[in-house]
Amino acid sequence: MRHESVPMYWRNIPQYYRLVAKRCRQCGAVYFPPALRCRCGSAELEDYDELPHEGRLVEYTVLYQVGTDFLKQKPLIVGLVELNGGVRAVGQIVDAQPDRLAPGTRVELVFRRVAVDGRHGLIMYGYKFRPVQP
Ligand SMILES: [Zn+2]
Repeated sequence: MRHESVPMYWRNIPQYYRLVAKRCRQCGAVYFPPALRCRCGSAELEDYDELPHEGRLVEYTVLYQVGTDFLKQKPLIVGLVELNGGVRAVGQIVDAQPDRLAPGTRVELVFRRVAVDGRHGLIMYGYKFRPVQP
């Protein structure tokens, strides 16, 4: 992959892998996942990638039956996180023991390998969450 193609590639990564929200130019409301139209009626929404990187676990699910891509990460923990400021995001919880998590656990954003594209030799990184050590 040529170096100059990286920004284009990055823009084409689904929003799941990036923590990019949309912000309304009219009233400032922030949407994650991105929305096309604001509840104020405006359709002028711009990329907003400055979401807080810390928040609290709202709820989580432990998946014991997961696809082969994730076998090395069994069990897979998926959590709903409320970032500081109130925007909610769903992501994998890493570096955690399921029985030591609870609603309200403080978590922080980390970037980890999320997928390998064998055909193109690309390794994709995306956001995940891990508990903040006390
Ligand atoms: Zn608005």
